[in-house]
Amino acid sequence: MDIYDEVMELAKRRGFLWPSFEIYGGTAGFYDYGPLGARLKRNIEDLWRKFYVVGEGFYEIETPVIGLEEIFRASGHLSSFTDPIVECESCKEFFRADHVEDRCPVCGGEFGEVSEFHLMFRCFIGPGSKRAGYLRPETAQGMFIDFPRLLRFFREKLPFGVVQVGKAFRNEISPRQGLIRLREFTQAEAEIFIDPHDKSHPRFDEVKDEVLILFPQDADEASRWKLADAVEQGIIANEFLAYHIYLTYRFLIGVGISEDRLRFRQHEADEMAHYAADCWDAEILLDRLGWIEMVGIADRTDYDLKAHEEVSKADLGVFMPYREPKVIERMAIKPNMQLLGPRFKGSAKRIADALSQIDAGSLGDQEITIELDGEAVTLTRDMFEITRVKEEIRGEKINLHVIEPSYGLDRIFYAVMEGAFFEEEVEGERRVVMRFLPNLAPIQVCVLPLLGARDELLKISRKIHDDLRKRGLIAEHDESGTIGRRYRRQDEIGTPFCVTVDYETLEDNTVTVRFRDTMEQLRVRIDELHAWLISELGI
Ligand code: AMP
Repeated sequence: MDIYDEVMELAKRRGFLWPSFEIYGGTAGFYDYGPLGARLKRNIEDLWRKFYVVGEGFYEIETPVIGLEEIFRASGHLSSFTDPIVECESCKEFFRADHVEDRCPVCGGEFGEVSEFHLMFRCFIGPGSKRAGYLRPETAQGMFIDFPRLLRFFREKLPFGVVQVGKAFRNEISPRQGLIRLREFTQAEAEIFIDPHDKSHPRFDEVKDEVLILFPQDADEASRWKLADAVEQGIIANEFLAYHIYLTYRFLIGVGISEDRLRFRQHEADEMAHYAADCWDAEILLDRLGWIEMVGIADRTDYDLKAHEEVSKADLGVFMPYREPKVIERMAIKPNMQLLGPRFKGSAKRIADALSQIDAGSLGDQEITIELDGEAVTLTRDMFEITRVKEEIRGEKINLHVIEPSYGLDRIFYAVMEGAFFEEEVEGERRVVMRFLPNLAPIQVCVLPLLGARDELLKISRKIHDDLRKRGLIAEHDESGTIGRRYRRQDEIGTPFCVTVDYETLEDNTVTVRFRDTMEQLRVRIDELHAWLISELGI
């Protein structure tokens, strides 16, 4: 067993992860988060919110997991969200064509032709099959299409950010890597709308001297880069993106990923989405699987807003005033009302308006024909004058650009599990410890009464357990087996502290607190226990 197998075995046995639909035989690409897994995942999500919602001041929204076909026509998913697929002619298994050599890895058979397989799950909205819908392949689109309302919510003050944490669905061809490739997974995405003419970040100064491991597009290997240098030398496209690469780094370190297993790899030119100005993947080195993408951080430019504007016909622009109004000169048409009035009567005003809309720059000395209520109206040269006018322009309508960090939380969950996994030999026995950071641990404290004839100890330990729970801690109570076995059980699920009620407790109202990682023990007064735990847990 390598670490991957050890972690997955522990995860299944102790209630972190279970293959979905198990009693019906299961199917690849789906996992249930069991009682401890769901809690750990929630803790990771909440820490993510601490960074992005509390720390950055972005707002969280929640949009449907089903999207209309039009959305994905605009986003490009409908036409191009596919993977190349091959089928083995002997065993009929399907594989991603870019993940296999020329023979079937299962039976050695030959492959048929490569074709394109669509990755979105299709469904129908309402009765009948007239209105197609799709399970969203990313949470991002829900945020783009709310743009006009978001703009108003933020009172047009730039930059502004929104986030969404939720399920995304991709009908992966042959998912075989546990949580790394799922057909239903959780994304946490932020879309930050910025002025395309100003991609500086108001807090870049605070992070510019930080050093990260970057693997730029043209480099042979990853190396350490100061962020300010990476931006200055055009390695990272702009400050705003660099700031968000750093924030991703802080978050991943914050969930316990070790620094030497973390790097940022820039997309190759042929890998980068055609609309992206720049894109970096946060990759974590996993024991069996190698460097795996956990987060994509991209400058998506104005691609999404433009695309939705085109398909929906809604106005997704923003009027950006210039710092100084610009004065321009242009040739304008001035209608001669003295002639137009008597000639066209009630329609004269509308004709005059239509004339003033025409760009006079390219007009020669000709007549003009315009269309009015479906009829052609010819205006002779004496009915208008062409004059040079000065005009003040105060700004222009544009589409904002978008910086997007896109996290795959299931992959991060697995990386946290693998990073936390630790084994050692203690007094001739194997001890397995999940060294979760205390603030992420699914169970924060376990209360254990020393077993013996004295019911009194049990009474006290139950009361301590109740009290801790009432005061908001996630606490367990374990009264079965030897104390050593009970400690091991908690070590294996990563409980940072065990509290033991023993005979000394009866004498001086103190308990033994045991540290998971060092196994050191300490006596703490019962009336100080809650405060002590809160401070040690860092919550
Ligand atoms: P993408 O839009 O492909 O860049 O995906 C954004 C993030 O979602 C990636 O960095 C991954 O962490 C995660 N992700 C993408 N596809 C899957 C999948 N099939 N299963 C689990 N996580 C995924």
